[in-house]
Amino acid sequence: MTSPSIVWLRDDLRVGDNPALHAATERGESVIVVYVLDDETPGIRPLGAASRWWLHHSLTALSDDLRERGAHLTLRRGRGADEVEKLAQQTGAGAVFWNRRYGQAARDADAALKTSLREAGVDAHSFQGSLLFEPWTIQTGSGTPFKVFTPFYRACLESQEPRHPYPAPSHIAGVKPAPESDDLGSWALLPTKPDWAGGFRERWDVGEAAAHRVLEVFLKDDLADYGDRDFPADDTTSHLSPYLRFGEISPFQVWHRVREGRLSDGAKKQAAAFLRQIVWREFNYTVLFANPDLATANYRDEFDGFPWAKPHAADLEAWRHGRTGIPLVDAGMRELWQTGVMHNRVRMVVGSFLIKNLLVDWRVGEQWFWDTLVDADEANNPGNWQWVAGSGADAAPYFRVFNPVLQADKFDGHREYVTRWVPEVDTDDYPEPIVDLKESRAHALDAYADMRRKA
Ligand code: FAD
Repeated sequence: MTSPSIVWLRDDLRVGDNPALHAATERGESVIVVYVLDDETPGIRPLGAASRWWLHHSLTALSDDLRERGAHLTLRRGRGADEVEKLAQQTGAGAVFWNRRYGQAARDADAALKTSLREAGVDAHSFQGSLLFEPWTIQTGSGTPFKVFTPFYRACLESQEPRHPYPAPSHIAGVKPAPESDDLGSWALLPTKPDWAGGFRERWDVGEAAAHRVLEVFLKDDLADYGDRDFPADDTTSHLSPYLRFGEISPFQVWHRVREGRLSDGAKKQAAAFLRQIVWREFNYTVLFANPDLATANYRDEFDGFPWAKPHAADLEAWRHGRTGIPLVDAGMRELWQTGVMHNRVRMVVGSFLIKNLLVDWRVGEQWFWDTLVDADEANNPGNWQWVAGSGADAAPYFRVFNPVLQADKFDGHREYVTRWVPEVDTDDYPEPIVDLKESRAHALDAYADMRRKA
């Protein structure tokens, strides 16, 4: 009698540097790799539409990668922990392995599963696969979570160097016959009526092999110019965010490739600046770990009394679809709609416009990004929205209102980015601004002063 090992993949859709998969192959029994589409566990946020598109392609690539190595990808749908427990019973599994998640509901579900598997005599082991520094390991001198990025970053650099990546197993002994699996198509993750994903297909190659190609192209062609990363038309950033989000590449692989790999002298000079951004992701996870309701509650509770305006449906529609009459905002929102990502500088500008010029609660914008970004991330998305709003950890002060016209002059002086996404910008077809920037800024500052008075 064999007792197969189950590897439950979640935000780690890769075979390389996957500690859970590595441990399962080391155990020496046959291996079942499972992914559960979980829209049901209370507190685990169902994926947005753009992320579902990405997930479909990511699972397709993963399934091919596993098949090449001798294993199958088993697909199930339901409450993740329940499905895995059921699978363990159905297959007589002797051990279950997974890499850790950091949202509260996911942690609770994983802890309960571990207990109940062990009670049933099944080994259960969890690993550090998705973060370089686990939230409870980087703390202030007084043992509390950091609230400010720079000292957090310093503490990370001073702590133990992240471990080296695990190699991908060359062979994974699959179970025969393979356990029953859903058909990926039946999950309907891809849009059909209408099919809005044409721009996504053009823009993205999804999957683990693509992630490594993207990293290599970045290191060779763009890292040396990372100092110009604030210029959206130049496109000198890595574009790794969706791959990191779904774990098609691990931060350990990125970290060590950048620290130890062959790089040009120009690239070497920018390596630390790039890795610093990777640590922002770690910081947001640390904040999420200590503040499980990061997507729904202000990190700084004085913002609970902020007098948000009731959004006008027409203004919101104009913002979502890039018809506000403010060129940089519209360019960003159209880039998002068509490709599932937006340049970081422009994300800050469109966020500031929504929150400060339209006085709309940051949660409305966060939810739209959650649905439309392929890199929509449970820590990075709310963390950054709260940063823009001023309500977050180490956030930009609320009174620092981006002027989207000046931002465009400074970072898109030749209007390359704006005309790429808003080709009609100089014609009669382009709308007038939906709001007066100066007046709305003054209004926002009054609202902020009002909140401060009441706090
Ligand atoms: P690079 O500059 O090449 O950075 C490398 C990696 O570092 C990124 O892939 C990302 O994992 C991490 N990183 C970079 N900037 C940040 C940052 N400000 N905060 C946290 N991590 C960062 N990023 C997401 O991954 N998911 C989100 O849902 C998300 N929502 C955002 C919402 C708003 C309002 C704003 C202002 C920013 C948001 N970001 C989010 C952060 C940032 O915009 C993206 O990570 C970045 O644009 C991705 O492009 P890149 O991979 O080319 O970045």
